[in-house]
Amino acid sequence: MEFSSKLLEKAVDEMAQLPGIGKRTALRLVLHLLKQPVEQTQFLTQALMKMREEIKFCKSCHNISDVDLCEICSNNQRNHSLICVVEDVRDVMAIENTCQFKGVYHVLGGKISPIDGVGPSQLNINTLVEKVKNNDVEELIFALSSTMEGDTTNFYIYKQIKDYSVKTSTIARGISVGDELEYADEVTLGRSILHRIPFENSLKNN
Ligand SMILES: [Zn+2]
Repeated sequence: MEFSSKLLEKAVDEMAQLPGIGKRTALRLVLHLLKQPVEQTQFLTQALMKMREEIKFCKSCHNISDVDLCEICSNNQRNHSLICVVEDVRDVMAIENTCQFKGVYHVLGGKISPIDGVGPSQLNINTLVEKVKNNDVEELIFALSSTMEGDTTNFYIYKQIKDYSVKTSTIARGISVGDELEYADEVTLGRSILHRIPFENSLKNN
């Protein structure tokens, strides 16, 4: 792509770093901003900078939050002894949208994937095991994507906590193997949480 302006080229290059944005789309977005009043670009950059600098992770569940303890963790209407273990923040949003889950979450921040160089120590697993050890948890619901990495992660956590008195279950799958949680429709996802199965049963099926 030949640019008549280095400034334009730089802006397009930066925009094209974002996932799913190729150079052509980046160019379209940048030219769009150029046509709009300058305030629009200011609002956009300010919102992004403010989010980047001030956002926090909940100190209990690691969900993204504006305060130390997220809205879900600080809500005493929720069942704090029922913890749904998810990969990332998008999964929390997807499950919240179903309105079927009244427990709390634990966001791992990814899944164990040796190929990508992600080991258990890079994930929020220790804090989850601590919660179980402290006897604060009645049931853990594994809601990771049913990929090999998801299964490996479930099993790793299960091994850490199986000697403690905690129930483990996994969400029932109306969705095919490898489907990411966030893409499941709300009804299916809601049902799969209500009709969850004991984790041990999911091991026998494999
Ligand atoms: Zn939280």
